[in-house]
Amino acid sequence: MPTKKTTKKVAKKVPKKTAKKLAVKSAEKKTRKKAQKKKVVTKAIKKTTTETIKRAPLGHLLIEKKLRDAGFSGGISTNKGILEKYSTDESIFSITPQVVIQPRHQKDVEIAVQTINSETERFPSLSLTPRAAGTGLSGGSLTDSIVIDVCTHMKSIGEIKNTRGHTTFTCEPGAMWRDVEKALKKEDVYLPSYPASKDICSIGGSVANNAAGPDSLRYGHCADWVESLNVTLYDGKTYLIKPINYRELKALSKKDNAHGQIAKEVFALIEKNEKTIERAKPKTKKNSAGFPLWDVLNVSVAQFKKGKGFFDLTRLISGSQGTIGIITSVTMRTQPIAHDTQCIVVPVFDLMDAGKVISKALEFNPINVELFDGLTFDLALKNPQFFKDRLSKLDYYKVLLSMYTTYHVRYGRKIPEFTLLITLDPKTLGTRTAAGIAKTLKQNHGKRARVVQNPIEREMFWQVRRASYTLSKFQDETKRPAAFLEDMTVPPEHLSKFFVEVKKLLKKFNVTAAVHGHGGNGHLHFYPLLDFTNKTTPTLVEKMAEEFFKTAVTYDGNICGEHNDGIIRTPHLNKMFNKKTLTLFTEVEHICDPLDIFNPGKKVNPRFDVKESLRKKN
Ligand SMILES: Cc1cc2nc3c(=O)[nH]c(=O)nc-3n(C[C@H](O)[C@H](O)[C@H](O)COP(=O)(O)OP(=O)(O)OC[C@H]3O[C@@H](n4cnc5c(N)ncnc54)[C@H](O)[C@@H]3O)c2cc1C
Repeated sequence: MPTKKTTKKVAKKVPKKTAKKLAVKSAEKKTRKKAQKKKVVTKAIKKTTTETIKRAPLGHLLIEKKLRDAGFSGGISTNKGILEKYSTDESIFSITPQVVIQPRHQKDVEIAVQTINSETERFPSLSLTPRAAGTGLSGGSLTDSIVIDVCTHMKSIGEIKNTRGHTTFTCEPGAMWRDVEKALKKEDVYLPSYPASKDICSIGGSVANNAAGPDSLRYGHCADWVESLNVTLYDGKTYLIKPINYRELKALSKKDNAHGQIAKEVFALIEKNEKTIERAKPKTKKNSAGFPLWDVLNVSVAQFKKGKGFFDLTRLISGSQGTIGIITSVTMRTQPIAHDTQCIVVPVFDLMDAGKVISKALEFNPINVELFDGLTFDLALKNPQFFKDRLSKLDYYKVLLSMYTTYHVRYGRKIPEFTLLITLDPKTLGTRTAAGIAKTLKQNHGKRARVVQNPIEREMFWQVRRASYTLSKFQDETKRPAAFLEDMTVPPEHLSKFFVEVKKLLKKFNVTAAVHGHGGNGHLHFYPLLDFTNKTTPTLVEKMAEEFFKTAVTYDGNICGEHNDGIIRTPHLNKMFNKKTLTLFTEVEHICDPLDIFNPGKKVNPRFDVKESLRKKN
């Protein structure tokens, strides 16, 4: 829970200059905008600059009545058991909300936003934190105020459209990824930004987190597949948000509503700070840290004003973790499923070869380059029962036989530092053959590269890759694989050196972690085993985060490739971005959420103390 001290500290974090500037801006606005709008902006300034925002349980006690009076038809609960259920996600945090609401439809979402909007002046601690399937690893969906759960009711899948060979689909935010995938499969298409958690997460949560996965090497994050979003903004109205050209932006900017105001002010901010924004863009291909202002325009401001390119607010909303508005509907593009893919496996015994062989492999535009480390392979060999529970009897024996043959016969009982899995498709193979590419890799530090022809062997490698997170638990079942260092990304050419540092640091802190990840993106996932019942763990988490994040940045990396900032990484964004950029993030969040009613404390103005908010159970 944030203490008074924490909130005080946070309030001070809003740069005085920015607050002043915003205050002046709002004063000017007051003279020209309608009475209602004036009230909104004044309240907003008060809320961001106030020194002591105290929790006001009274507001939360009243909220059920207020919502019902306004016609909210979904579920509302303050039941202790339910609040406890919503107090955790897949992160290392535990924060108990005051109220959980479950809207039935967009109208309910609008009522919720309007209600909080009108009550926030009296009760400044009221806010709305969206939650979908709750599988996030950064604590993004946790709050001490109101959780708005979009997964219970708002999960219908709409039309799958095919226009001139391009397939798109529309769904409510709570639609589960696995259900959408099943529907798309019938059309022989898929959503290539799928995360490893696709069997348990939703589409809306994935867009709001800007999730990514193995095929993101070629196909990017969820944001890259968004066609349009319906979003309920701070005025409690829902807007269709999609890429627009300069003429459309000018027309929209004249509109006296939240969408028009946000578009106008975000564009002005980008225009004024174009150089700073350009410089702030992370060097890694993958990133979900901060607000990606560098992606809102796909051309320079000057070119845009000449009629080229698009201004796209969906780029800002995707990955904003519910800090800008609440997504009520998503329309996304899809990609035809690649058939006849080929897999090259490269066991890397000398760590220093990993970065080099990956860099070479990238020249062939693979769909993905995935990896797992020696500890993962070792755990797979030692825990065959893990696969027994997941595979049919016959497949289990085949996979096991393949795994032990690989280890004993192919590798001479030596476990590689890393195993790389490279997937290629006929489109990029062109006139080349997979065997030819394997040969090139052999000559370029991938001495043992070979094409895996046997489908069982291929399945075995992928089983081990996917199992890394769960297998790590087998080292000590009394501890929890802790998600806080799990998302660092470096340019692939720095991967080997970075991994050497990671190993040194793990040793220094006396913890173990199995590593897997997206090698092509230089993206390592690892979850140190920690005991959350131990009183020294909070300090350990703090110290480790500090050192690991600094190290990633030293290697031109980022602290957050795809799992987003949430509670854990928001306080560390200053390691990646300079003061000016952080101020721009605060300003843009303020433009979009002037009342600070959407998921406060995430992405900007951290308000949850990491140590105090840690879960107390494993
Ligand atoms: C085993 C495991 C593997 C994982 N692998 C990956 C991976 O490969 N890649 C990856 O990117 N992530 C991964 N994750 C993290 C997580 O599963 C994904 O980011 C997932 O896409 C989140 O979806 P969700 O439905 O659970 O969203 P939630 O966790 O419920 O929400 C995510 C964020 O979005 C916000 N939000 C939710 N709904 C809305 C809405 N309607 N409007 C606005 N904001 C909203 C929430 O406030 C929260 O900040 C993994 C997690 C686990 C447990």
